[in-house]
Amino acid sequence: MTRVYNFSAGPAALPEPVLRQAAEEMLDWHGSGMSVMEMSHRGREFIAIAAEAEALLRELMAIPPSYKVLFMQGGAIGENAIVPMNLLRGHAGADYIDTGEWSKKSIQEAKKYGRVNVAASAAASGYTTIPPRSTWQLDPGAAYVHICSNETIGGVEYHFTPDTGAVPLVADMSSSILSRPVDVRRYGAIYGGAQKNIGPAGLTIVIVREDLIGQALPITPSAFDYQTVAEHDSMYNTPPTYAIYIAGLVFKWLQAQGGLAAMEALNRRKAALLYDCLDGSAFFRSPVARDCRSLMNVPFKLKDAALDAAFLEGAEERGMVQLKGHRSVGGMRASLYNAMPLAGVQALVDYLREFEARHG
Ligand SMILES: *Cc1c(COP(=O)(O)O)cnc(C)c1O
Repeated sequence: MTRVYNFSAGPAALPEPVLRQAAEEMLDWHGSGMSVMEMSHRGREFIAIAAEAEALLRELMAIPPSYKVLFMQGGAIGENAIVPMNLLRGHAGADYIDTGEWSKKSIQEAKKYGRVNVAASAAASGYTTIPPRSTWQLDPGAAYVHICSNETIGGVEYHFTPDTGAVPLVADMSSSILSRPVDVRRYGAIYGGAQKNIGPAGLTIVIVREDLIGQALPITPSAFDYQTVAEHDSMYNTPPTYAIYIAGLVFKWLQAQGGLAAMEALNRRKAALLYDCLDGSAFFRSPVARDCRSLMNVPFKLKDAALDAAFLEGAEERGMVQLKGHRSVGGMRASLYNAMPLAGVQALVDYLREFEARHG
């Protein structure tokens, strides 16, 4: 068996020890005689698995008791509708910060449910920056302020938590959740699909301040009403049981790595290794402003796009896959989520230098 270095933006690489444990437990979870996939979500075994996953996530992120943790479905794209349905709370609209492809999608979807004020946009920079907080034109009557903490496609990331005063801050953290500590108390809600930095696709994590729920629009589907989901411990409908189990194993693995502060230190080393290589090269370049560069998703370009195919082919021969950039921006993209080891980034950097020496 040969495992590759998988730089996919999502679904993405998972920690190997997690996959091994899941394989060992596949046919018989802890003497139950069943696979987790075969368990009733209402049985005591699965209830224990889900409760442990939630407890571990709460511990890792230091989530205060006044926040609900919801295990939902529909992905971040689903949440783009579910958030306004739940959080408009009688307000006419919400503020959105436009930093790229994913925030644009959030904005388009929210417009179906309320007025959207785009309080700041990075369009003028070609989405290579995060607009400084001082430039935001916030509406004091907004229900919430929405940001995308890390733009998975453009590779820009917030390196500050914006102060929005009394208006709750809501963040799509799909591609940066668990990459470093965040102060949950600064947010009204945090959401993200699991398939980037947590576990398998199919699970959506929502962390929401208790006092913001219970005022969903009447049209909100029951399965997507935060109050209903919270009241039923995320089991109003059948949750994605296997994805929750794997997420729980990942949380345990993160804890064993030293938690989120240790992950941040490692993620910073990984990102610095790659960005330093790009910046020191005359052949490769990062299009993103230095102070907004993502630790998780690193888009980069070759000097000559005609060599893109040869670059990808050579990478694959060396066991490095999924480096092709998103179709909307072209070029390359290396995603360096928690499960990507430093050795994988070192292998990529070695290859970049080798490729430049040959073609530069
Ligand atoms: C991947 C991604 C999404 C879309 O998630 P789905 O699970 O496909 O709905 C939305 N926002 C961000 C920041 C993402 O990285």
